[in-house]
Amino acid sequence: MKHDLMVIGGGPAGMMAAGRAAENGARVLLLEKRGKLGVKLSITGKGRCNITNAEFDNRKLIKKYGSNGNFLFPPFHKFGPQEVINFFEKRNIKTKIERGNRVFPVSNKSSAVIEALIKYLKQNNVTIKTNATVKSIVCEDNKIKKVALQSGEEFMSDKYAICTGGQAYPQTGSTGDAYNWLEKMGHKIISPEQALVPVIVAERWVKELEGLSLKNVDISIYKKEKKVESEFGEAIFTDNGMSGPVIIEMSKKIGQLLKDGEVELQIDYKPALNFTELDQRIQKDFKKYSNKLFKNSLQALMPRLLIPVIINLSKINPDKKVNAITKKERKTLIHLLKSFKLQVKALAGFDRAIVTSGGVDLKEIDPRTMQSKIITNLYLAGEIINIDGPTGGYNLQICWSTGYCVGDNF
Ligand SMILES: Cc1cc2nc3c(=O)[nH]c(=O)nc-3n(C[C@H](O)[C@H](O)[C@H](O)COP(=O)(O)OP(=O)(O)OC[C@H]3O[C@@H](n4cnc5c(N)ncnc54)[C@H](O)[C@@H]3O)c2cc1C
Repeated sequence: MKHDLMVIGGGPAGMMAAGRAAENGARVLLLEKRGKLGVKLSITGKGRCNITNAEFDNRKLIKKYGSNGNFLFPPFHKFGPQEVINFFEKRNIKTKIERGNRVFPVSNKSSAVIEALIKYLKQNNVTIKTNATVKSIVCEDNKIKKVALQSGEEFMSDKYAICTGGQAYPQTGSTGDAYNWLEKMGHKIISPEQALVPVIVAERWVKELEGLSLKNVDISIYKKEKKVESEFGEAIFTDNGMSGPVIIEMSKKIGQLLKDGEVELQIDYKPALNFTELDQRIQKDFKKYSNKLFKNSLQALMPRLLIPVIINLSKINPDKKVNAITKKERKTLIHLLKSFKLQVKALAGFDRAIVTSGGVDLKEIDPRTMQSKIITNLYLAGEIINIDGPTGGYNLQICWSTGYCVGDNF
């Protein structure tokens, strides 16, 4: 059967592109490497799928995407967060808005989102082929001629959409296959890098803190002893570094700074108290526990796992009586609680990154249609293009909007 559009990649961008094109009457073939569609989508939002962000002012929304944000004006104008919510509500996915305008299905189930998309594809007669890994693309005179699968099968279509995602969480099928194809076709690929990712620190003892989650802390990034950025919220220690909302949000900035040498993190475990207030609080505790050993006097001040680490770093004898602790030692303790230092060695790998930054240069794509300016019968949508956002539903919104724009050309 001759197809009008072949979509490569059955993630959110590919499903939306295929569904919308078919709804407009196109004969669509959707090829997906994995045994089922939307494998990555199923793990989004910890399995709850943060579909989009309920920011309905496109100007404000665009700002979330940094310097490349303007590219998204036409796709958001056509199919923005409100249209996404309407799309799913119309398909019986009731939605709710949570902290930070995050939109989730009321059912808290990403599987419901995937089922709705598959129904959309089937109702509009999209031919779905899973376990279909595209191996190569044959292109002549700036036009794609055919696509070859790993199995040896070949497929042809009038037009093609590449929606293969980036290379974050490659175990979900997004292994960055398309970067090579696109470079060969003459597209410029901005170097893919991991974004929204945990960090790895130099201090080996961090392993002792693995699993310790922090609430209401202030974490600052320092470069050459100068504070660059600071954020308040939650974080967690991992086996070799840190993760959690504050770290994930800061990771893009940390990645940029790391290119230019060392980056330091400073954790303020007690942001509600200034140095003097914390000192008063500790003195009160020390009075109460004056006959206890230092190592047994800190339970009320910090989480259990942190105690041996802080004691070690403070170099205060753990078996010293609290009433023998000097003012200097107390100040050291306060410093450790107000500016707990960690040297960031690297970002964690793509296997732990939520998104990929980088991808197809936006200058080579028409934002109104998502058509390639280099290959006449090619369209691009989703994480494959050089734009990414913070956490909060912003990355899926890119996929829905750009995917919809592709499908709307038919
Ligand atoms: C753990 C995690 C949680 C996340 N949570 C959220 C969230 O709650 N909200 C949010 O907005 N974003 C979230 N994201 C980001 C979001 O999931 C991605 O940005 C989004 O899935 C990208 O969609 P896509 O369609 O461009 O690509 P993908 O979802 O990566 O889909 C691409 C598809 O192409 C297929 N493919 C690749 N190569 C080939 C090939 N050679 N042949 C055939 N098929 C191929 C892949 O198998 C894959 O199914 C999360 C990401 C992760 C990893």
